[in-house]
Amino acid sequence: MNLVFLGPPGSGKGTQAARLAAERHLVHLSTGDVLREAVKLGTELGKQAESFMKKGELVPDNLIIGLIEDRIKRGALREGFILDGFPRTIPQAESLKEMLEKHSIALSKAILFDVEDEEVVRRLSGRWYCPPCNAGYNYPAQMPQSDGVCDQDMTPLKRRPDDEESVVRNRLEVYKKQTEPIIGFYRQESILTKINAQQSPDAVFQSLLKEVA
Ligand SMILES: [Zn+2]
Repeated sequence: MNLVFLGPPGSGKGTQAARLAAERHLVHLSTGDVLREAVKLGTELGKQAESFMKKGELVPDNLIIGLIEDRIKRGALREGFILDGFPRTIPQAESLKEMLEKHSIALSKAILFDVEDEEVVRRLSGRWYCPPCNAGYNYPAQMPQSDGVCDQDMTPLKRRPDDEESVVRNRLEVYKKQTEPIIGFYRQESILTKINAQQSPDAVFQSLLKEVA
């Protein structure tokens, strides 16, 4: 089973990918993990990727595709994989398809984790953390005992700059412009499936299990 997970920030797809990968013995491929592994192994492509990362530049598409292809060649993806956070653009989706075809691999499904904008804003702007101890809180689901301060050490909680409401709205706009065309791409490939990701994480996981049964 080879899957692509699509969805806006805050849709919970990363968490669901990790959980499904563990349950079904699939390899969870997030772009960050793939890059980190290649750098750690010191492969040729890993060294190239590292030079981009050190300069703070984006790692080019063909390099990321190459890294995924490396894992296929090493037989690491034989049981199947979940691509999480890649592809993000149509050119990426097209070159991914081409590379997989070369190895006679087909994507089984592209699963869209569907969440309304306001829910994304509510989820992400509700995330707070404690700077010294890194404890995480979530309004309103998981609030500290005393509003705005950490349960462990009473430090005032902070929000990551990325989770400020205006930034979240901006991230959503970027997602829509960049990634929504991919939804159409996979619909045309007839492998697109939608999951209602507004539900609780457990309910989302149950829907996911039905989709991949
Ligand atoms: Zn703390």
